[in-house]
Amino acid sequence: MDLSFIGWISHYNCYIFFRIQFNLVIFLEVVGPIIDGIAINRDQRYITLNPADTRERVSMVSVATVDDVRHAFDSAYEAFDKWSRLSPHERARVLYRAADLFEQELDSMARLITREMGKTLAESRAEAERVPWILRFYAGLILRQSGRSIPSQVGNGLILAQREPLGVVSVITPWNFPIAIPAWKIVPAIAAGNTVVFKPASLTPTIAYKLVEILYKAGLPKGVVNMVIGPGSTVGREMLTNRHVEAISFTGSHEVGLEVHKAVGGLDRFVRLQLELGGKNAVVVAEDARIDEALDIIVRGAYSLAGQACTATSRVIAHESIYQRLVEALRERVSRIRVGNGLDPNTDMGPLSSIDQKKKVLTYIEIGRGEGATLVHGGRALENGIYQYGYYVEPTIFKDCSKDQRIFQEEIFGPVLCITPYRDLDEAVDLVNSVKYGLVAGIISRDIGRIMRLSRELKVGLVRVNRQTVGVEFQAPFGGVKASGNDIYKEQGEEALDFYTRIKTVYLHW
Ligand code: NAP
Repeated sequence: MDLSFIGWISHYNCYIFFRIQFNLVIFLEVVGPIIDGIAINRDQRYITLNPADTRERVSMVSVATVDDVRHAFDSAYEAFDKWSRLSPHERARVLYRAADLFEQELDSMARLITREMGKTLAESRAEAERVPWILRFYAGLILRQSGRSIPSQVGNGLILAQREPLGVVSVITPWNFPIAIPAWKIVPAIAAGNTVVFKPASLTPTIAYKLVEILYKAGLPKGVVNMVIGPGSTVGREMLTNRHVEAISFTGSHEVGLEVHKAVGGLDRFVRLQLELGGKNAVVVAEDARIDEALDIIVRGAYSLAGQACTATSRVIAHESIYQRLVEALRERVSRIRVGNGLDPNTDMGPLSSIDQKKKVLTYIEIGRGEGATLVHGGRALENGIYQYGYYVEPTIFKDCSKDQRIFQEEIFGPVLCITPYRDLDEAVDLVNSVKYGLVAGIISRDIGRIMRLSRELKVGLVRVNRQTVGVEFQAPFGGVKASGNDIYKEQGEEALDFYTRIKTVYLHW
């Protein structure tokens, strides 16, 4: 038997949905649009599943209609005037309260992320812990946001360059960091006085819903953040083209990013656009690197989140003098990775997040075999025993990869690592830069000259020296170049406020 409704209970802004299964009453979260501060329930629904064990249902999701999205934009537009005129102190007060509320629920938030997205509990906890930091960081930053005063050539004159919010911002996010990415977009947007319409990924809407719910519990006025859930083709389209959109912050794949870019380019007005897209990140291991240190950095970079981070290490470019030793040491280390349900504290690597992800990764493994790369470890789906109901793939290593191969060039977004030898730094730079992406690169070396040369010549938005490529910090600017982003505005850090504000020049004369 399947679902049998007993009832809906209004519980602040969220609903709890009851069903009976095998004579047990099970609580299933219900999430859906939040428009004008009110949770909405629609007839079209779907269920999110735990990718570690798809017998477990996580939430019932109510899908927004296009009219709901329009209503959400109207609500955000209405709310803008009042919210933007509040003092930064009043806006900051809401964010500080939200940080306190979120912090009280870190454990349950972390479990929810793991259950819906699949990453390990430690990874989810680290993600959830960033949210209160982000809330407090932008609450503090907005209090000291400054413009400039510029001397005037006119006597008794002064020119002010002041920052002001943009209006209604459209926020569209992916499923791999289902709470951190929504937080690092929504929080600076509203701190600066904008209002938001937010669409999370359809795969992982539940934890994002919790963030919006907490913002309202913290006293956010209605309409300042509106949430809509639904497919990119309908809900997503309206998110780009609605007449009230002043700016769009999008994180996702390069392919969808290009569609967004084209849709916005086709409008008959100007809309500010921030695109943060995929990566094909490499780590250069120099001849002076310590192998044990390199192993930690590479394994964490490649297999955290089962390789489903935009900043994941998917290529290792190793000096020929240490290449064989590194390959063998990696094979040995990776063979010890414990794959399993992220809720199990012994798990090092969780499942892939969806059946589509699993199929895509297995397809790329076949492509790699077909194009002549040598499989060193892994390469298979895990489907028996504890893996029976999940989307598991072994952590995989290919060696002797070359730049004409698709597994070297394309974003796989899974636990697949390609290793390639290099002779000298010219060749290392060429190999790293030969892909279309430019998000992050790692350098493992102790030689400052080598580090500085590589940092300068690698065409990426971020360089991580002797640190794994995943795990950026909220207080520093983040963003890619080339196909990894449109590279106009950075996210996170103080720089995020450049995207969410514009400068008005005021000439004073007395
Ligand atoms: P995706 O398929 O591009 O989707 C991203 C978001 O866009 C989702 O909310 C999706 O909605 C929505 N969307 C899809 N089609 C749309 C359309 N035509 N118009 C408007 N919105 C649309 O990416 P994903 O699979 O969720 O995430 C993985 C990708 O994100 C990887 O490429 C990864 O590298 C990248 N990523 C980049 C960063 C970064 O900061 N650079 C960070 C994390 C992830 P649905 O879910 O309903 O399809």
